[in-house]
Amino acid sequence: MTDCLFCKIVAKEIPAEIVHETGRTLAFRDINPQAPTHVLVVPKQHHPDAAALARADDGLADDVLKTAHAVAVQEGVAEGGYRVVFNTGPGAGQTVFHVHAHVLGGRPLTWPPG
Ligand code: AMP
Ligand code: ZN
Repeated sequence: MTDCLFCKIVAKEIPAEIVHETGRTLAFRDINPQAPTHVLVVPKQHHPDAAALARADDGLADDVLKTAHAVAVQEGVAEGGYRVVFNTGPGAGQTVFHVHAHVLGGRPLTWPPG
């Protein structure tokens, strides 16, 4: 996708603070963090949202979830608890249509979310 912000970050055309990378995933810090740890995990392959990722019948959703957990361990939030969020669709607040998991932690996280 030529006009996708996160594809450009994957291609290293736009800078980001990358914290984890595998062959098929990339994790970088959110530019507007909502918690002490706020990292976005994306598949390098473009899929617009979590529904499309779920339909990608090649284990890619599994890779994204595994990377999210690896980031939580690396950030030191895995033991205390962390949240993985896929905002899916405009009604849920999705603003960037390249699927991404938000990994949030490092502070008490209340429920229900806003
Ligand atoms: P969402 O609203 O779920 O689509 O999340 C998009 C997220 O991308 C927001 O939390 C933004 O702060 C974040 N974001 C937007 N632009 C950038 C960027 N250039 N680098 C890192 N994070 C970004
Ligand atoms: Zn993309």
